[in-house]
Amino acid sequence: MKTKIWTILFLLCVCFGCLAKEVIPFNTSAHHEYGESVNEQNYENDRLIKIIYPKTNVECLDDAIQTYIEQTKRSFMENNTSNTEDKAELNVDYQSYIKDNRYISIKLDTYMRILDEKQQVKTWVYDQTNDTMVQLHDLLDEDALDDVSEITKAYFKKQYPEECDTQNFAIFTAPAYDNFETFVLRKDAFVFYFAAGTLFDRGVYMELPYEQLQDHIRMEPEQVTAFVPYADVLNEPVKQIDPNKPMVALTFDDGPTKKYTTAILDALKEHQASATFFVLGSRAKDFPEILQRMVLEGNEVGNHTFSHKQLTTLSKENIEEEITATQESIHDVINRYPTIIRPPYGSKNDNVLSCAQGKKIVTWTIDTEDWRHKDAKKIVENVIKNVKDGDIILMHDLYPSTAEAAIILIPTLQDMGFQLVTISELYDYGKNDAGKIM
Ligand SMILES: [Zn+2]
Repeated sequence: MKTKIWTILFLLCVCFGCLAKEVIPFNTSAHHEYGESVNEQNYENDRLIKIIYPKTNVECLDDAIQTYIEQTKRSFMENNTSNTEDKAELNVDYQSYIKDNRYISIKLDTYMRILDEKQQVKTWVYDQTNDTMVQLHDLLDEDALDDVSEITKAYFKKQYPEECDTQNFAIFTAPAYDNFETFVLRKDAFVFYFAAGTLFDRGVYMELPYEQLQDHIRMEPEQVTAFVPYADVLNEPVKQIDPNKPMVALTFDDGPTKKYTTAILDALKEHQASATFFVLGSRAKDFPEILQRMVLEGNEVGNHTFSHKQLTTLSKENIEEEITATQESIHDVINRYPTIIRPPYGSKNDNVLSCAQGKKIVTWTIDTEDWRHKDAKKIVENVIKNVKDGDIILMHDLYPSTAEAAIILIPTLQDMGFQLVTISELYDYGKNDAGKIM
């Protein structure tokens, strides 16, 4: 009898697990329309922290974001991780939107995984004209709220017809401002977010074009310009490689950033050297001209996943989404697909390998730990002391100290007799297998 109950419970869990996984929305179109990205990472001990947030230079907005991030970090650090099998992980990423040159919307996505996963969405909308934060009732009158409620019910009943006949669904779609307070203003539409435990057990979102609320909306409509993918980009070989001489690959993760990536590219160009940039899918479209420049000047662009999660903790479908969304967002900018993937934190398992689909999974042989020291001299010394033929050197184009170190390292390594090549060139010349898994 006992076994039977456990079997039923087990089956219920399995079925529910599948169902939940299938429909988790994965928003792969990243918008960073406002603010400068700030990066914070810390890979100490048993906790991985990767936080990307915007600095908007709007005081009340920056204060609100800062306070929220500090609170999130504190609650992450307070949790006991001693029972966890994988490293505990805190991942914060953002989207930002500007509408009518007036409304700035910020959305922070928080993903926390200790024993299980928690996802949270937090939004702010700021009105530059009135220098004030905006709530939904500033934008929509009560009639419009009724419309939003009806549209929301109809939308989710169509999407998930089996799941809407619950008390929660009725309560959290009712025409109350509180139910719709997590939203952003895109150029063409509202996007409303509903947390896990409100409409459904999982978080969901709905896009609502402004024209559907025409009569009640307190905003002017705006012309929308679509993103136009750039024309073909050529990759002319810019340098000669001597297969008989030693070579190493400099690699830069988590970018691009305007200042530091550009400084590194300048140094590479000056010395006719190449490097590999493992970019995040969520950032690829922020600086299309920098990505194009990478390719034009003989550097390589690699896939560093879309949102920088530990792939080993994700389902196969989610790993595939992380990889595919990044392939597409890079392709949209440079008109070619990366052939190499570097998993965040270098974490890989059989699932990750099987999702690579012909692309190479690449880690590194020298870790400069530039994120830890933030000290150009230490980075340079570490590399010079350890470097040998075929090495793959890990850095992050996020910090002034890393750019500074690269500017010193590039000519220094060349003076030591190393050619600076891309990862693919390293493999083409059969120089390295250490960072290559397949
Ligand atoms: Zn990374």
